[in-house]
Amino acid sequence: AKRNGRNRYEYFHPELDAAARRRRSMEMDLRTALHLGQLQLYYQPIVDNGSNQISGYEALMRWQHPGNGLVMPLDFIPIAEETGLIHEVGARALNLACQEAASWPGKQTVAVNLSPVQFKNSDLVKIVGLALADSGLEPERLELEITESVLLENSESNIDTLKELKALGVSIALDDFGTGYSSLGYLRSFSFDRIKIDKSFVQDMGESREALSIVRAITGMSGSLLIKTTAEGVETDAQLEQLKAEGCSHFQGYLFGRPQPASERIEVLE
Ligand code: C2E
Ligand code: CA
Ligand code: CA
Ligand code: CA
Repeated sequence: AKRNGRNRYEYFHPELDAAARRRRSMEMDLRTALHLGQLQLYYQPIVDNGSNQISGYEALMRWQHPGNGLVMPLDFIPIAEETGLIHEVGARALNLACQEAASWPGKQTVAVNLSPVQFKNSDLVKIVGLALADSGLEPERLELEITESVLLENSESNIDTLKELKALGVSIALDDFGTGYSSLGYLRSFSFDRIKIDKSFVQDMGESREALSIVRAITGMSGSLLIKTTAEGVETDAQLEQLKAEGCSHFQGYLFGRPQPASERIEVLE
C-alpha cells in the first residue's frame, strides 16, 4: 500500500477518508443545488385550537436532487452547518418563505427554522430585514424557530440578536422544547412568543405519565406566561383530545397534514 503523502491517511483510515470524500462531494452538490434552485420549501399546516383553522405553516426544506430524488433536511442540513453553507441555505429559506407567504390569500403566518450556526453571522438581522423588505411580507406574519442551543452558546450576544429580530416585528418560537436541559431558565432570558412541544413528548404521552406530566407542566407555565404552545407530531385523535384537555393553543402533525410543496399547500382542513 502507498504510505506517502495524501494516501497515508487513506491507508490507515479508509472509512474516515470515504466519509470525508462523501462530505466534500455533498458540499459541492449542495452549492450547485443552491444555484440551480433545487432547495425548496414544503409547508405543513399549524392549526389553532380555538378556531380549528389553519393559522400558519412551518416551512421545511427539501432538496430536489436530480439523481437521488427528494433529500430530507437531516441528510443535508448538518453538512451545510459544518461547511458554512448554512448561511446561504438559511438565507434561501428566509427569502423563499417570505416570497411565497406574501402571495397567500389567507395571510397565514409562516415559520422558518434558523440554525444556531446562523447566529454566528453578524448580518443575520439584516438578512431577515431584507427578506421582509424584498417580499413585502408583513413582519407579523413571519415567525423564526430557534432551538435551546442558541441560548446555550454565546448566550448574551445571541439574546441581543433575538431582541433585534423581535424589534423587526417578527415572532420568535422556541423549538423542540424539553429535549435540552435547564429549559425553564431560558424562558426568563427572553420573551418567546411560542414554545413548540417536541414530538417525542406528544408521542409518549399516552403510555408515559412522565411525558404527560411534562406536557402539562409546559402548557400550564405557558398559559400563565401568555406564551403560545404548539404541540408537534400530532398523529392520532387520542393525542389531539389529550392536548386539547391540556390547553395547548396550536397543533401540528400528520393528523392535520404532512408538509407539502408550495403548489399543493393544504389550505383548508378536511
Ligand atoms: P423540526 O423543526 O422539529 O421540524 C419538524 C419535523 O417533524 C419535520 O421533519 C416534519 O416533517 C416532522 N413532522 C411533522 N409532523 C409530524 C408527525 O405527525 N409525525 C412525525 N413523526 N413527524 C412529523 P423534517 O421536515 O424532516 O425536518 C427535520 C428537521 O430538519 C427539522 O426539525 C429542522 O430541525 C430541520 N430543518 C428543516 N428545514 C430546515 C431549514 O430550512 N433550516 C434549518 N436550519 N433546519 C431545517
Ligand atoms: Ca421547527
Ligand atoms: Ca421541532
Ligand atoms: Ca426536531
